[in-house]
Amino acid sequence: MPVKRKSRGRSKGGKGRSDYVQCSICGQLVPRDKAKKITRPKWILDPALAKELRQKGAWISTSVETKYYCISCAVHHGLVRIRAEEERKVVPRRRRSRSYGVRRRKPYVSLLGV
Ligand SMILES: [Zn+2]
Repeated sequence: MPVKRKSRGRSKGGKGRSDYVQCSICGQLVPRDKAKKITRPKWILDPALAKELRQKGAWISTSVETKYYCISCAVHHGLVRIRAEEERKVVPRRRRSRSYGVRRRKPYVSLLGV
């Protein structure tokens, strides 16, 4: 059977049903392995102000925010792009944002999200 994508648009593999999650924008129920999961650190204060306070010895708590998006919302908000027909067959490699990785290596960040 010809398929549009090698993964059929999901990361399910051979397993059966998967749980549903709700899209953070439109509220649609999407299978967990089909939804786009975005995890970002949530800053309560302005990052520049937080850095200054941290240098003076203050402990500032931050949390990690996880959001799920349905495909329609992910495309509309630019999280994923529509790819050409040949390109669709290639499974994209995950890339980490460089700034986030650098930030995580600093020692004080290990106190976050305990
Ligand atoms: Zn949505």
